[in-house]
Amino acid sequence: MKPVDFELHRPATTAEAVALLAEHAPEAKVLAGGQSLLPLLNFRLARPEHLVDLGRIAALAELRRTRDELVVGAMVRQARAERSPAVAADAPLLAAAFPNIAHPPIRNRGTVGGSLAHADPAAELPAVARALDAVLVAAGPAGRREIAARDFFQANLMTVLEADELLVEIRFPRAAPGTGASFQEVGRRSGDFALVGVAAQVTVRDGVVEEARVCVTGVAPTPHRAAEAEEPLTGRPLTEARLAAAADALRAAIDPSGDLHAPGEYRRDVAGTLAVRAVAQAHRRATEHAA
Ligand code: FAD
Repeated sequence: MKPVDFELHRPATTAEAVALLAEHAPEAKVLAGGQSLLPLLNFRLARPEHLVDLGRIAALAELRRTRDELVVGAMVRQARAERSPAVAADAPLLAAAFPNIAHPPIRNRGTVGGSLAHADPAAELPAVARALDAVLVAAGPAGRREIAARDFFQANLMTVLEADELLVEIRFPRAAPGTGASFQEVGRRSGDFALVGVAAQVTVRDGVVEEARVCVTGVAPTPHRAAEAEEPLTGRPLTEARLAAAADALRAAIDPSGDLHAPGEYRRDVAGTLAVRAVAQAHRRATEHAA
């Protein structure tokens, strides 16, 4: 299939992009890497009259560090962030997620902001943003606003972004020393969207889990931040019994729907198993960093 006709705009600045969206919304859509949008256009599931391509806006492709944050521009390609030493050092959970996303050619084009704005319930990056309490910065006709990740994802493929707003950058808190991370998932084939995925980041100090962050994808319309699994892990040394308690608490807290690919009960069970694996690996990596 081919898309319906549209007018392509290629602004050079964020201000121009915002002005174009303000002029043409709701008949305009933002084009980032196109890896989700172009199939929707080709199948005519989306029929925007205007496409605002962000590819020429250099400011949106910046990746920088501040004292406390790693700031990732919305147009930073997933493959570039995957290879970035700054991402590996400051946001190890983000780095751990990328190899699970699709295939390298898709990550070469796909952007960090595009994945978050698309908000697929099985996607990895929304779970990472939610696990790390990232801050998402949007620009619109009224200026910029900061949105906490817990408020950003509203429903399946729905965020709080307005039709005339643009996601411009994502701020991740820089990981403390002694932090390790892991992203574990199960899918039908390598490169497919996950049936279930678990993001875990653990900070260890003096043999004690100072902080545990766990978030699950594929079990609800938006990422499930698993406070119930974090609680039994925090403030204590990690043991197998505590890992099992965390997994049980997670299974009790979620109620995934079934679909063509897997029944809800399977997703619930696998979520617990993946949480054990992810937290254990994050803990091992944290301990190596602490040493
Ligand atoms: P686009 O496709 O350009 O845009 C997606 C949506 O977000 C559009 O509605 C667009 O208007 C909006 N948007 C994009 N950027 C912004 C912005 N800055 N501000 C406001 N709105 C914006 N993803 C996964 O997470 N895990 C997978 O396993 C996975 N597997 C895939 C397998 C295949 C075969 C394919 C084709 C894609 C897969 N994807 C997967 C999707 C991929 O990661 C996409 O790159 C990503 O979802 C969208 O990013 P993009 O930059 O391509 O955005």
